[in-house]
Amino acid sequence: MRGEILSVGTELLLGQIVNTNARELALRLAEAGVFVYYQVTVGDNRQRLLAAYREALGRSDVIVVTGGLGPTYDDLTKETLAEALGVPLVVDERAMQDLRAWFASRNLQMTAIQEKQAQCPAGAQLLRNPVGTAPGVLWQGDGKLIALLPGPPHEMRAIFEDSVFPRIRALSGEHLQSRVLHVTGIGEAAVQERCADLMAGENPTVAPYAKLAEVELRITARAEDDGTARDMLAPVVSEVRRRLGWHVYGEGEARLEDATGEELARQGLTVATVESVTGGLVAARLIAHPGASGYVQGGLVAYRLEQKRNLIGLSDVAVGDGVSAELAQELARAATRQFAADVGIGTCGFAGPTGRQVGLVYLAVAGTKGERAREFRLGATRDEIRQRAAQWALTLLWQQLHEEA
Ligand code: ATP
Ligand code: MG
Repeated sequence: MRGEILSVGTELLLGQIVNTNARELALRLAEAGVFVYYQVTVGDNRQRLLAAYREALGRSDVIVVTGGLGPTYDDLTKETLAEALGVPLVVDERAMQDLRAWFASRNLQMTAIQEKQAQCPAGAQLLRNPVGTAPGVLWQGDGKLIALLPGPPHEMRAIFEDSVFPRIRALSGEHLQSRVLHVTGIGEAAVQERCADLMAGENPTVAPYAKLAEVELRITARAEDDGTARDMLAPVVSEVRRRLGWHVYGEGEARLEDATGEELARQGLTVATVESVTGGLVAARLIAHPGASGYVQGGLVAYRLEQKRNLIGLSDVAVGDGVSAELAQELARAATRQFAADVGIGTCGFAGPTGRQVGLVYLAVAGTKGERAREFRLGATRDEIRQRAAQWALTLLWQQLHEEA
C-alpha cells in the first residue's frame, strides 16, 4: 500500500513549527505495512489544499492528514475534503451531543463556530478525540483510506493510535515486528561490511541508523501474524549478534549506561572517574542507571592542569600540554586510588572551538581488569565532542568488562 502524509498549516510552511507529526506518522505507517511515498506540506489555503487532496487521491492508498481541524476560519481541512470528494458536510448528531457535553462539563458556553466540529463529510465517520474537542475524520472508499487528524501532537497521536492504526493494519493484512539492536564502538560502514548479506534481505529487513557515537540496527519482519513475524526475527538477531560480538550492548530501550551498569554489578566490580574534557558527563551517565549506588564509587572533575598534577602527583610524569594518552591513563589510575574502585576512567582532550587539535581526545580505563588507553579524533562542535567522548569512555569500559568477563 502506498501512503502519503499531508501536513496542513502555514506555520509549518514558514518554518515556525517543526513537523514532528509527519515524522511520527511516517514511522508508524511503516510499522503498519504502508510504504510512504510522499510527504506534502500545504498552507491554510483552500485552493492549494484542494489541489493537494486531488493529487493524493490520485496516487496514494492511505492518506493521513494533520492540522486545520479546529473550529476557526483558517481551519479548512474537513470542508475541503468534502469538496474534493464531491459530498456535502452533514452534522453528526452523536458528535454534537459529545461536544455539548464537553462544554457543559467545563461550564463553558459553546458557540456556533464550535458546532463546526460536529460536521462530517457525508459518507465519512468522525473519530472520537479522547484528549480534545476536535474529532478526527475517517473516509474509506475505492480501496482508499483517508484520515484527518488534529494538529496538536498529543491529539493527533491519541486518535491515530485508537482509531486509525488498527484499521490501516487490517487493510494491509500484514503484521510487522521489529527489534532494535544498539551497537557501539564500531562505525556504520563497518557494520554494513559485516552484515552486508543480511542487509540485502527483503524479509526480514536489516537497516542501520547512525546516532551520536552509536549505530542502531532495526530488524523488521513481515508476516500474516505477529507470532510468525517474531519467529522470523529471532535467527537474524542472533546472527547479527554473533557477527558484531561485544559491539552489541543491548536491545530496545537499553542505554549503554544500563548495559555497563548491569555488567559491573554482575561482575561485582566498582567504578570511579576522573574527568577533564567530559566535565562529569561520564559520571552522570553511569549514575543515570538505577542501582548505580551498587557500583559507582564516585567521580571528580579535574579541569586545570595544576589540579590534575595535585591530584595525581604528576611531577615526574610527562604530561606535555595536558592532553596525552599517558595523562588519561594517570587520571584513570587516580580514580581507582582516590575512590578505592576496581575500575577507573580518565578523560582529557581539546573540545574547542578555538585552539589546536580540536577534537583530539584521550580516554583510558585502568584497574584490576587491566588497562587500556586510546586516542580519538571526535571532530565537530564542542558539545558533540564531549558527548562522543563520554560515549566512547563508556564503550571502552563495556569492552573491557565484556572481553575479560
Ligand atoms: P486546533 O484546534 O488546536 O486549532 P488544528 O487541528 O486546527 O487544531 P492547527 O491549527 O493546524 O491544528 O495546529 C494547532 C497546533 O498544533 C499548532 O500551532 C502546532 O503547535 C501543532 N501542530 C500542527 N501541525 C503540526 C505538525 N505537523 N507537527 C507538529 N505540531 C503541529
Ligand atoms: Mg487550528
